[in-house]
Amino acid sequence: MLDSYSFDRNWNDLDLAYDKMYVAFARIFTRCGLDAVVVEADSGAIGGKDSQEYTVITDAGEDTILICESCGYGANAEKCEIGKRPFKKSDEEQQPIELVDTPNAKTIDQVTSFLKKSPKKLVKTLIYKVDGKVVAALVRGDREMNEPKLRNALGAKSVEMADPDTITTITGAEVGFAGPVGLKDVKIIADREVEGMVNFIVGGNKTDAHYINVNIGRDFNVNEFADIRVASKGDACPKCSGTLKTERGMEVGHIFKLGTRYSDAMGAKFLDDDGKEKPFIMGCYGAGLSRMLAAIPEVHSDQDGMIWPISVAPFEVVIILLNSDDESQCNAATRLYEELQEKGVEVLLDERDERPGVKFKDADLMGAPIQVVAGRLSSEGKVEIRLRSTKNKEEVLLDDATEYIMELRSKLYQELEEKAEAASVKH
Ligand SMILES: [Zn+2]
Repeated sequence: MLDSYSFDRNWNDLDLAYDKMYVAFARIFTRCGLDAVVVEADSGAIGGKDSQEYTVITDAGEDTILICESCGYGANAEKCEIGKRPFKKSDEEQQPIELVDTPNAKTIDQVTSFLKKSPKKLVKTLIYKVDGKVVAALVRGDREMNEPKLRNALGAKSVEMADPDTITTITGAEVGFAGPVGLKDVKIIADREVEGMVNFIVGGNKTDAHYINVNIGRDFNVNEFADIRVASKGDACPKCSGTLKTERGMEVGHIFKLGTRYSDAMGAKFLDDDGKEKPFIMGCYGAGLSRMLAAIPEVHSDQDGMIWPISVAPFEVVIILLNSDDESQCNAATRLYEELQEKGVEVLLDERDERPGVKFKDADLMGAPIQVVAGRLSSEGKVEIRLRSTKNKEEVLLDDATEYIMELRSKLYQELEEKAEAASVKH
């Protein structure tokens, strides 16, 4: 992990420092061959005001990120707010509420398959302890509760799942059968989506029982509707009216506006112009080097192996000496190896006593961006030079080879540099 911090005298200066680091990080990732998408993120345990993540889109990623198809807004699933769409109540006619037996059916799957209903017709009731008080939180059966959103919606310091004893005391039932109907002295908060639902299923507050055809206002009241669930594909963008899509992503960097969270706690102060001691306004900027190393081959590889961006390649050039018993091949390989080393190029010489096929395969697998083959052409004073990425080959005179490789190398660096320049615009 590369970690850096900024210390400023006011919020405006922090914003300036943050923007500089934002751009610097965008350049770093791009130079390393990573097109990282910047998404809004939850500050999580680190805390602070704002934070953003640099995420590389890859199926190998462990994070779900949401990206707006219209405006490009992106956010980590934990953080992503859900935009409002015009409120629409289902026009289904309200049916009489009924308590039905659902023996041993505790999970959403068990209940809905037993009742032969879709999870979209169920509202799950989660019992939390919010700053020590019991709160029931409601989301649609196929949705996931977002605890940071719940905490924010309730303006609370801490939100934790209630323990089984508390749940049994509150609901009068085993865990798995909690519902909002008949709950006493418990605040009920529901996800906005629940407001439009009619004739839904909830826990019966009785072991092995659920209510069906439940309706808000008639069967129970909700104290507050809020955005408290994890955003998913198809939800509305919070910035525009667009639709969110999901991608898999790998987080490679995370930057935070910490503010005074740590300077207050540590008593880290400075003497301002007005003669008063004030806490530093802090920022924190982290890049995951080992994560980057994991992400790069995910996006730079083909069926034959890795294709390192030249900036981070363990070796910029690999020289494949096909037959180490052949004098002209040996001389060509050795000469180039020495000339390139003298010029500061990171070069690997494969002089192993292996079949050519094995050497070619290994060179492709290890992925040095420039490959040089000292083979049969060496007797004519030539070598073959090719790019790992395109596999385009060029026969080059041995006398010109070093210069040719130096130019190719500069071009590869230049390409990354141009991309980095393009990426260094804050959006
Ligand atoms: Zn949008």
